[in-house]
Amino acid sequence: MNQTIAAIATGPVSGPIGIVRISGPDTMAVIDRVFHPQDGKPLSEKPSRLLTYGSLCSRTGDVIDRCLACVMHAPHSYTGEDMAEIQCHGSPAILSETLSVLFANGAVQAGPGEFTRRAFLAGKLDLSGAEAVHDLVTAATTQAAQNAAAQLDGAVGTRIYALRQKLVDLVAEFLAVVDYPDEEIDSVLIDRSCEILHDATRDLYALAETYERGRILREGIPCAILGRPNAGKSSLLNALAGEDRAIVTNVPGTTRDVIEESIRIGPVVLRLYDTAGLRDTQDPVEKIGIDRAMKQANDSFLILAVFDSSDEISDEDLMVMARTHGKRTIAVLNKSDLPSALNIEMIERRFEHVVAVSALTGEGLQELNDCISQVVGLDGMAFDGGVITNARQAAAIVRAAERCEEAFFEAQSGMTPDVVVMDTEGAIAALGEITGQSVRDDIVATIFDKFCVGK
Ligand code: GDP
Repeated sequence: MNQTIAAIATGPVSGPIGIVRISGPDTMAVIDRVFHPQDGKPLSEKPSRLLTYGSLCSRTGDVIDRCLACVMHAPHSYTGEDMAEIQCHGSPAILSETLSVLFANGAVQAGPGEFTRRAFLAGKLDLSGAEAVHDLVTAATTQAAQNAAAQLDGAVGTRIYALRQKLVDLVAEFLAVVDYPDEEIDSVLIDRSCEILHDATRDLYALAETYERGRILREGIPCAILGRPNAGKSSLLNALAGEDRAIVTNVPGTTRDVIEESIRIGPVVLRLYDTAGLRDTQDPVEKIGIDRAMKQANDSFLILAVFDSSDEISDEDLMVMARTHGKRTIAVLNKSDLPSALNIEMIERRFEHVVAVSALTGEGLQELNDCISQVVGLDGMAFDGGVITNARQAAAIVRAAERCEEAFFEAQSGMTPDVVVMDTEGAIAALGEITGQSVRDDIVATIFDKFCVGK
């Protein structure tokens, strides 16, 4: 039988309100010992989710807070077990004493993600829904939260269940035929199975393709700022980030290492890397910085190539053009507040996206933001849970798609039913890993270990 667990759900920081959660078979007994409602009626006898005012007592029986608490009776709770929540004042002292008194009364410390793991094991959520809970807790943009909320609601799970069920039905029909090897296989069955396998393959690949965007939504976009020394790379990073994060000087070669800053642009988080200016140098330290800049640029999803529009194109600018060739790049013509001396046509011939800005005055920054959203491809996208944001799910979807595709070709070329069944079953197993219907315990453990304590 499960132990009764307790944890602070609001993290270790001090805040106006802190929440402590309890779940498990002894919840009601424990909460009645530590929380005494003002009206004298035990909290365990109250209806679920009714916030009740009362006194929270310490291990010595002294009142440590006057606050709210509620119970949730099994099975109608997050974990499916009896649960309680105490909403006390959020000082770390009160929160830790509350936990201590719960432990003294038989509760034990919850592990990371243990509440959600119990919810999954009780069938309250499928595994994709449980992963969406983690995405919701860590969402960096409203759109990422919106997508995760839809997945918590079953946007991925429901689709995968339906696909998997079609394949399960197909296998059942084929297995019936396998039992009678001498009989000719009905051509209608072959045609229908080809259609089902073909459609499933197409749908799964389409779903897997959403992952690149999903990853952007969840992890942000690595974006390197490249340019010659003094073009205004650090100033641009600061202007985009809205604070003096990188060192700005007019001595070329100040940024010798890579500086990172995350900023939010509409639906995405841009992970900006300010890099050492590209130029020919004999300084060994600067050389290392330039090598790192190039590595950063190669690993980035997007490059902002910064040019000083108040100056003519230099050899160093040509180096930037050469190094960004074939990469997703926006040319940023900085210092638009100064008279222009740059050969803009040459830049426009070389780059598809060109934006003039002044990191100093802020002019053109909005246009740059809009251009980034457009180039990244999240403009006008629906965040309805249809975007796969999770690497584990994406890998399982690709495996399922490959096995479905194999089964399709086998069915189409008239191979024996047992071969088609084997690949279809492989696809079914891969889909089951997403919903949690067929997933190894160690994988489940790894998933929940990433969660925070209290969720
Ligand atoms: P980096 O070497 O490319 O990182 O360039 P910095 O950001 O350090 O800027 C180099 C110099 O250009 C500094 O003196 C900045 O104040 C100046 N600068 C940067 N952006 C602008 C701008 O938009 N307009 C003007 N007038 N000066 C700028």
